[in-house]
Amino acid sequence: MKQSRLLIHTYRETPRDADVVSQQLMMRAGMIQRVAAGIYDYLPLVLRSIRKFENIVREELTKDGCQELLMPTVQPRELWDESGRWQFYGKELLRFKDRKDADFCLGPTHEEVVTDIVRKVITSYKQLPLNLFQIQTKFRDEVRPRFGLMRGREFIMKDGYSFHVDDADADREYWRMFEAYKRIFARLGVKFRPVEADSGAIGGSFTHEFHVLASSGEDAILSCSACEYTSNVEKTEAPKLTFPYASEPVLALQPAHFHTPGIVAMADQARAFRDEQHKGLPLDHASKFYVFRVAKGGANWDVGVVLRSDHEPNVVKLKNLLAADSVELAPVAEAEKLAGAPSGFIGPVELDIPIYVDRSLEGAFNLTCGANRDGYHHFGFKPDRDLKQFKVFTDLRMAVAGDACARCGNGVYESFRGIEVGQVFKLGTKYSTTMNCNYLDEAGASKPMVMGCYGIGITRTIAAVIEQGNDADGIIWPWAVAPFQVHLLSLDAANADVAAAAERSERELEAAGFEVLHDDREGLSPGVKFKDADLLGMPLRIVIGAKGLKDGTAELRDRRTKKLERVPFDRLVSAVQEFAKTTAESAASVSVSSS
Ligand code: ATP
Ligand code: MG
Repeated sequence: MKQSRLLIHTYRETPRDADVVSQQLMMRAGMIQRVAAGIYDYLPLVLRSIRKFENIVREELTKDGCQELLMPTVQPRELWDESGRWQFYGKELLRFKDRKDADFCLGPTHEEVVTDIVRKVITSYKQLPLNLFQIQTKFRDEVRPRFGLMRGREFIMKDGYSFHVDDADADREYWRMFEAYKRIFARLGVKFRPVEADSGAIGGSFTHEFHVLASSGEDAILSCSACEYTSNVEKTEAPKLTFPYASEPVLALQPAHFHTPGIVAMADQARAFRDEQHKGLPLDHASKFYVFRVAKGGANWDVGVVLRSDHEPNVVKLKNLLAADSVELAPVAEAEKLAGAPSGFIGPVELDIPIYVDRSLEGAFNLTCGANRDGYHHFGFKPDRDLKQFKVFTDLRMAVAGDACARCGNGVYESFRGIEVGQVFKLGTKYSTTMNCNYLDEAGASKPMVMGCYGIGITRTIAAVIEQGNDADGIIWPWAVAPFQVHLLSLDAANADVAAAAERSERELEAAGFEVLHDDREGLSPGVKFKDADLLGMPLRIVIGAKGLKDGTAELRDRRTKKLERVPFDRLVSAVQEFAKTTAESAASVSVSSS
């Protein structure tokens, strides 16, 4: 491909409205253009990467017997009423009316449509299992579209759905897709991790997310240093810590014992907890308290959560514990009203609401807590003794790096940041039950199919690849999804000998099966061409110039390592073949040692 013919314009300046590296570089490299918030053109160069990744996904899924189909983007309300999601999906679902005033939406995901297909076609256990996928444009009216292709409103997704006679078969397929995803991301040549994730409170469901590791990732991941346990921090089990002061006498509650006026921050309070015995208390002797507002099926109520003062609450754990639709912090003014004291002095003891206590406080005593009186704290607090509505000790805190692994107990958690590029999800019978997607079993009994769903964000993955692969000069594409594998620069393009040699090399490399972008543009300095090549980031740069032509050589440069090599023209193809082979090998090792 001649660069002079390519629809591309490169920019030296970082665009002002681009907030992550992948977006900046894709805009500078003329790969994407913004059409509206979260809506982009995929220009020819990046579309090649997108298509390559789609094909990797296709190949790996087809190996496992998955069948590709294509469902509509525009979906009728009726199907979404059947699943109940027309009402519950929220504003991400873009709804509109057609000319006959009928309600439609743009598909953010396709459980309803695919379930409708399957219930019409499948009647017997003999036709199961079934695994269907599509690669298609999705629309989600995200509140804050940002980070370019990483959180767009319109984006390309691979979504797959499987249907089974029972849980065991759905589980089998889940792990098969899990393995397929590992192959897919390994072929990309990126560092990634499968991560246990929150599945909400749907019975019988569980899920893993696949994350590309990058410091700009929106998700925090904790991974055990000793065992396989890797999870999204919103889900990570926190180890139960033992209360370290077992030798102290257990005291009765001493109301409003500490006077700490105006001191709100936990660490300052701990220092200020002073009396004849105490010269300040350690943070693990102090408790902290939050009031959360719970919503479930139209009802609302408040609950309290007590934690050790140096721990943070995990809202997802609380939401799952209560099987709630949503949980959020109660507005400060209302918590203050409930307690009759300003924020900083609100405590659990006198309050008549259900109170849940983090399990690291099981067995704890002689704690401090807010006294519900301005400027005062209680001392001697023992949660299971002193609360009006003590509910349970359970895991309610955020695990943090350095915590002992709650699974194996041998390692400690290490933290990573990740970009969620895919998810495998065991759905259970949520959709088949509400939408009557049933089959007849061997005995002739009608049963709901057990479902799984499997997504990969195609365009987000391409952005994530760039988040992981870049330097100050531009993009560093992995071989597998680079728009072109080779960037051939003719330095003195107006020189007929150089042009002819470059032309011949382009043809020979293409004949050998390589994809070549040939920078044949005339009248540009070598510096400009080098800068553009670094920005565009193809894995191998080949330079042909008048100087090399004299001794019959071209210059090869590895974009990643910046290593240079001079190669005689008659060995050019074999040198590129050699490069391709070693790059593929090192890409494979990158993903295997995926930390
Ligand atoms: P997130 O939590 O990041 O909003 P999600 O969990 O809602 O994503 P899924 O429903 O699991 O997304 O969709 C499958 C995949 O589609 C995700 O793993 C992600 O890679 C991709 N994806 C989801 N939302 C977007 C978006 N707004 N822009 C680009 N890709 C997206
Ligand atoms: Mg997801």
